[in-house]
Amino acid sequence: MNERRFFVKNVEETTVVSGEEFRHAVSVLRIGKGDEVVLCDNTRTEYPGTVLAVDKASFTVRVNGKRENKKEATADVTLLCGYLKGDKTEYSVQKAVELGARRIIVFRSEHCAAYMNENKLARLNKVSVEAAKQCGRSIAPQVEYFGDFADALAATDAKNKLFACEFATETTFDLHALRGSTAVVIGPEGGFSEKEARLAAAAGYATISLGKRILRADTAAVTMLSVVMWELGELQ
Ligand code: SAH
Repeated sequence: MNERRFFVKNVEETTVVSGEEFRHAVSVLRIGKGDEVVLCDNTRTEYPGTVLAVDKASFTVRVNGKRENKKEATADVTLLCGYLKGDKTEYSVQKAVELGARRIIVFRSEHCAAYMNENKLARLNKVSVEAAKQCGRSIAPQVEYFGDFADALAATDAKNKLFACEFATETTFDLHALRGSTAVVIGPEGGFSEKEARLAAAAGYATISLGKRILRADTAAVTMLSVVMWELGELQ
């Protein structure tokens, strides 16, 4: 069975876990006194501990030590993706976390058909935490939202900036030579406008074509991240 991992803001010798993490622990995992758990504080360090007590709205963990999490990617990869309809963005976030992305930015662009709100963003962050736990990570990337495409493009200082463009006729970046921090941009269902493609080029993004067929946005996100993670040595 997977280790039972919980994300908290700060880990102390005695740590109280409350809120969503508590509810999940009690209702799904049936956590009890004496159980072994692992606490994560969104760093590469994780903390094994023992449950001291379970109360009505929280449980208390005595931390027994700390160790480096070995599942985090070494590569620093950011996904920027257009906000999608229904639960499609949740899928992209889940897969991005599994594939080891460090940062996830969701943006609104010209051909976006969906509207973000606080609850939906909270839901995406919950998906990130669940995915991180499931694949044994100690960092659940925070999902950030940008209502302006240009702001989203400017929000990363990654060394390599890649723009997946469905109407590009060629790829202007040698992916086999990829090294260092990398950001990948994927459009919404409606794709990008010519103007947005020009904006990305002006912001230093190289154009990537994923071939002859138009992929759905969620497929494109998984494909781009897989290729990038592979080239950075993370999937080997
Ligand atoms: N509605 C658009 C397709 C959008 S696909 C149309 O019919 O043309 C959603 C996003 O996935 C695109 O904006 C792009 O970022 C990515 N994508 C899909 N297929 C791609 C391809 N062949 N090459 C590069 N990017 C692609």
